[in-house]
Amino acid sequence: MTRTKLMIPGPVDISDTVREAMAVPSMPHYGPAWIRLYDEVLAMAKQVFGTRHDLYILSGPGTMALEAAMSSALEPGDSVLIPINGFFGDRTLSVAEGCALEPVVVQAALGDPITPEMVADALDAHPQVQALAIVHHETSTGVLNPLEGIAAAARARDVPVIVDAVSSLGGVPLPVDAWGIDFCVSVANKTLETPPALALLSISPRGWEMIEARTARRGWYLDLRTWRWYAENWGDWHPSPVTMPTSNLYALHHSLSALLEEGIERRYAAYAAAARAARQGLRALGFPMFVESEQYASPLTTAFRMRADVAAADIAQHLLDDAGVMISGGIGELRGKILRVGHIGQARTRDYVVAFLLGMENALRAAGVDVPVGQSLVALEGLEN
Ligand SMILES: *Cc1c(COP(=O)(O)O)cnc(C)c1O
Repeated sequence: MTRTKLMIPGPVDISDTVREAMAVPSMPHYGPAWIRLYDEVLAMAKQVFGTRHDLYILSGPGTMALEAAMSSALEPGDSVLIPINGFFGDRTLSVAEGCALEPVVVQAALGDPITPEMVADALDAHPQVQALAIVHHETSTGVLNPLEGIAAAARARDVPVIVDAVSSLGGVPLPVDAWGIDFCVSVANKTLETPPALALLSISPRGWEMIEARTARRGWYLDLRTWRWYAENWGDWHPSPVTMPTSNLYALHHSLSALLEEGIERRYAAYAAAARAARQGLRALGFPMFVESEQYASPLTTAFRMRADVAAADIAQHLLDDAGVMISGGIGELRGKILRVGHIGQARTRDYVVAFLLGMENALRAAGVDVPVGQSLVALEGLEN
């Protein structure tokens, strides 16, 4: 059986080593062996987050951890600034509304970044805002928002920062403590390359102060105080309040070890090389980039517009049927207008990138466009398997 090559922005194709690591016998989520594994995973994850403060591993999707942060740090009626430039910004807004917060929204056009100036102006205009909640990598458009400057603008106004780094952490620099991020949310199934099941959440000391200052009831499982209680009181044998997906944590141990062994800077460079190869190759085939500015184009997802003579759905379908490469379409109003190719997981390798580009050439030929073989293989330097 030929395996489909996942080149969607997540979930990702994981390495065979990690897949095999998951075939461990059942293991309890408590006891000395578990604590050893768990503490090593936490220590490695803290290195990737660049934090010396608290980090929690929750079972569930990234959106759950985002909701845990928002509903623990804020209470109904609290005002939160939510800059939006795509689907996941809208999702953050939905979570805030679900927590009965009072959102202040600033909007940038799809494909444009949120800038530090936009955030600074909005915070100055709305002094009632008690936190900023922002998506780092807007996966729906391939924009990497300039988070360092955005967080600095919030910090200068003493506004805590909640970040959805679900698709960025581990793929681009995001030193949580150095940038002053109070709540940083990510998952194990994007750049950390394990199957879906686990969310990771860092919490700064100021984040805890916010949590402690709120008195409204906020459920139990998603109340971060519950997680802290277990870490502090049961940390030496049963560190989380509920049963954990133990094989997934085992996989995460493997993938974090591999990442740190390879060197995180090298991993960043591999993504950048894959994105460069895709962007240059697609341009050579006449596909305009959705995010033209190299400054804001994410090295983790490349969104591109259609040529006038082909349809997005046909290209994606041909790529899947003929080359076994799965990419993503646009979401919402971008549906049919853009396609997105992910660079995380195995998608960053030379094999995948070349399969994608040659598959795109074939898809064009199937649509009646004359393309010389290899026209798109113009920037393969730096790619490895
Ligand atoms: C994938 C993604 C999510 C969704 O994560 P879930 O684990 O499905 O909740 C949220 N935000 C961004 C930016 C993403 O790319």
